[in-house]
Amino acid sequence: EPKIIGLTGGIGSGKTTVAKFIEEFGFPVYYSDDRAKDIVNENDDLKPKIKELLGNESYDENSLYNRKFVAEKVFNNKELLQSLNEIIHPAVRLDFEDWVKKQTKYLIFKETALLFELKLNKQCYQSVLVTAEDNIRIKRVMDRDGKTYREVQSVMGKQMPEKEKIKLADCIIYNNTNLDDLKDQTEKIIFEIE
Ligand code: ATP
Repeated sequence: EPKIIGLTGGIGSGKTTVAKFIEEFGFPVYYSDDRAKDIVNENDDLKPKIKELLGNESYDENSLYNRKFVAEKVFNNKELLQSLNEIIHPAVRLDFEDWVKKQTKYLIFKETALLFELKLNKQCYQSVLVTAEDNIRIKRVMDRDGKTYREVQSVMGKQMPEKEKIKLADCIIYNNTNLDDLKDQTEKIIFEIE
């Protein structure tokens, strides 16, 4: 049985960058949020459920998930968002379990933005949080996505506060400087997990 390490962080924290470093060090990473995006298209059991919840327009004429439509539907509607997540999350969990069965390394990583929010850390051996100062994260996302300061700030404002995540995490990577430092911290953390 491999040890599953949960890897998380808020918007622009650098968790995907850390995940790529982890892969470079030879350990596999399951990208939950990316997989969720594929699963809504790959898993035919989900389609009728999502259409029933949000409408037929949830999928286009080619049976492809209409992300924009769905996002608009659930925007500012917590209940609908929760119902949607209750459809998608179990499918992602099963997909993850299949993936775990195929792994041969003793340490494997699960990248997910909502590790603590969904209490997925309970199913992990340990959790790693990537964090950085708000202004640094905002600046990085503005550069990466061409978003405005206020746009990034508003997404950030809806996420679990860093203070709470810091309390819950087993290991913390402070990503306030450069990529070399980030890689060094990542390496240390991987090889200190026991
Ligand atoms: P999101 O949840 O928004 O997808 P994330 O936590 O996965 O974000 P990344 O995409 O890894 O974050 O990083 C955000 C941006 O900041 C990327 O463009 C990345 O290249 C850059 N970045 C991350 N860490 C550093 C660093 N230490 N120095 C410079 N740039 C960085």
